[in-house]
Amino acid sequence: MQTFIIATHNKKKLAELERILAPLGIRAQTAEQAGFVLDEVEETGTTFEQNARLKAESAMRQTGLPAVADDSGLMVDALGGAPGVYSARYAGEGATDGQRNRKLLHELEQVPESERTARFVSAVCCAFPGGEIVCVRGECEGRIAFAPRGAGGFGYDPLFLVGEKTYAELSDAEKDAVSHRGRALAALQQALRERAAAQGASQSANAAAEGKDG
Ligand code: IMP
Repeated sequence: MQTFIIATHNKKKLAELERILAPLGIRAQTAEQAGFVLDEVEETGTTFEQNARLKAESAMRQTGLPAVADDSGLMVDALGGAPGVYSARYAGEGATDGQRNRKLLHELEQVPESERTARFVSAVCCAFPGGEIVCVRGECEGRIAFAPRGAGGFGYDPLFLVGEKTYAELSDAEKDAVSHRGRALAALQQALRERAAAQGASQSANAAAEGKDG
């Protein structure tokens, strides 16, 4: 079984990646589980893809194994796409989810319902030794509510409306079915299946050519 390093400290993300990689015959491990201590990577990119790629390539270089990393956040149209790649740092380093949500509501105080459109975005990149990169993206369209609702989830979930419910009012399975991360992970599974099929086809072609030569 092949091992992929999952460059995250988040147990929920690791569990999600374990679930989607297992059917492909891939074991997902954190760097710590595989016996490595990784240097932290500064997220200096201006797009989700750039940050996910920076983290995946760094983990791949430090371990010599294929590595997967993600970057995600909330883009609010009335704020020109903010908080975007700065979603985790929107109310400063060390702030709480509650503080970030209050800041978002404050910034949107004068914004009417029809202009409160937003989307969650998740980019997931897989870096392979040898330099190959597979990057996918998932998005979920929604609106920002006028007050927090629901007890589930984390982060901006209580403010993000998909239809009539916030992410925080959905069960885990309901959120996975529509969420940015659920969609990105489904796309990653598909991209890795296609890569494996292409590799299998080129190996068969090589074997056939060798058979002919020999
Ligand atoms: P990261 O990709 O784990 O660094 O997440 C960036 C930030 O985006 C998090 O700290 C959250 O504030 C926000 N975020 C990402 N995904 C979600 C989600 O599914 N629900 C709520 N907030 C999220």
